[in-house]
Amino acid sequence: MTDGGSNGITGNRQMKESILEMSADLAWTVGQVAEAAGYLWQKGWAERNGGNITVNVTEHITDDIRRLPSISGRIPLGSVLPHLRGCWFYCKGTQKRMRDLARNPMENGSVIRIADDCAHYEIVADAPVAPTSELPSHLAVHDYLLAKGSPYRASLHTHPTGLVALTHCSRFLEKDAATGMLWSMIPETKAFCPRGLGIVPYMLPGSKELARATIQAIDDDYDVVMWEKHGVFAVDTDIMSAFDQVDVLEKSAQIYMAGRNMGFIPEGMTDAQMQEISDVFGLPK
Ligand SMILES: [Zn+2]
Repeated sequence: MTDGGSNGITGNRQMKESILEMSADLAWTVGQVAEAAGYLWQKGWAERNGGNITVNVTEHITDDIRRLPSISGRIPLGSVLPHLRGCWFYCKGTQKRMRDLARNPMENGSVIRIADDCAHYEIVADAPVAPTSELPSHLAVHDYLLAKGSPYRASLHTHPTGLVALTHCSRFLEKDAATGMLWSMIPETKAFCPRGLGIVPYMLPGSKELARATIQAIDDDYDVVMWEKHGVFAVDTDIMSAFDQVDVLEKSAQIYMAGRNMGFIPEGMTDAQMQEISDVFGLPK
């Protein structure tokens, strides 16, 4: 059961300053999101309100939190996502900046719960900050992950400059062309992003088509998906792991760019050297 669509801004909120005080695990997880948001800003991947983060925090929700009233009324998801029944998410707010979220995660994001009909959600805490406009596509990905039995709980969308620049070259849009180049720049990239970089052709940001194509790419076995001329969408167990996968890929893009800027095309590691990495690290594929 949910608590219905009242605007119950009072209630427990007078007793509790923040939902984060009701669950140490939730507070830690939201703290990780804030730390990652700060990195996105520092790295120049999150201009203005660019980028989105959603994290499935259901496992950190206590019975006391479940009894909190809605502060938003019921808001349609735009589709039915059956595997999200009973799920709770921390979501970056729409039009909010990563650099602000880094300092004040509960003023620039909110905790929501999915209604029992799996077609609506309600904002529960701390303030009625509307979630990212990309919420339907993020939640569609979470729905897919749960359906598949995946342990992944975090999704990240950001604009890493080097990786986005690569997608302005059609050669790197061919399947696994960018992956091969990026893996060959430095051994750690293959070791720590072993599934490589999926590619999704340009589609309107926020569209259902883009969400579907992203899920298809994840289903094809990628953890990090590149949206042509836009940004990456990454999933992993937690937000830091998702961030790390993007970070190692972007490192390789920067090495490639540095070589090109020095006037040569980087040679890259040999196929044998990369195969050795796979063997030693026991990587998939
Ligand atoms: Zn974007």
